[in-house]
Amino acid sequence: MAPSPAAPLQIEAVPVLDDNYVFLLSRGSEAVLVDPAVAPPLIERLEQRQLQLVAVLQTHHHHDHIGGTPELQRRWPRCRVVAAAADRSRIPFQTDPVADGDRLSLLGEPITVLAVPGHTRAHVAYHLPNSGDLFVGDTMFVAGCGRLFEGTPEQLWQALQRLTALPPDTRIWCAHEYSAANLRWAVEQVPAADPLRVALDQRLQQVEQLRRQGQPSVPSTVAAERATNLFVRSSSPAALAELRRHKDHWRG
Ligand code: ZN
Ligand code: FE
Repeated sequence: MAPSPAAPLQIEAVPVLDDNYVFLLSRGSEAVLVDPAVAPPLIERLEQRQLQLVAVLQTHHHHDHIGGTPELQRRWPRCRVVAAAADRSRIPFQTDPVADGDRLSLLGEPITVLAVPGHTRAHVAYHLPNSGDLFVGDTMFVAGCGRLFEGTPEQLWQALQRLTALPPDTRIWCAHEYSAANLRWAVEQVPAADPLRVALDQRLQQVEQLRRQGQPSVPSTVAAERATNLFVRSSSPAALAELRRHKDHWRG
């Protein structure tokens, strides 16, 4: 059965490993996975729901994002694997190399590729403008951002600005559940009298409540991150670098 544009696009966050999320997108009988860290729980879920895996989207080459892909390709040999052309050597099983600005269509949804280097030098994000969904990998988290492993503070700062220039109601799907720790750190950086502190405290309470209920704290939104993400709100690459250094050494 071909995916019908009338059927709603469904997205769910599947928790795997310690704190990773794999995103399962489906419409009709077809599915797409974003950053499958592992294969077995996803194969099981797709088979239970009789979904055909048509594509994997990879944001970057770290093992906790690509680890399950080869096994998924063996189970669904026609599955496409979309990844940065610049990471061909580190994601050798890619079938559809992409670069900044490329457009593709999966599950009847147009998808735009955004180059967002910083965490790694070839990191990409995937934006679904029609549904208003954005898959950011490890570039940004709820109230946080990825560590600067390969890129410069300038690159990461630009990447965060670019992602949060998208429409305010865009849903941001981050690849790790780091929200509560990020918010506890952020609260310590802001004086109690600052109105931003009230917003951070509220956000931390919301996140803790979701986690107590066993719910993921993702997706976030562009509006929420513009309001409470200190990295997004940093005024310059140098300010972002300073925050990143501080957070790298913070032990909550
Ligand atoms: Zn990573
Ligand atoms: Fe990761």
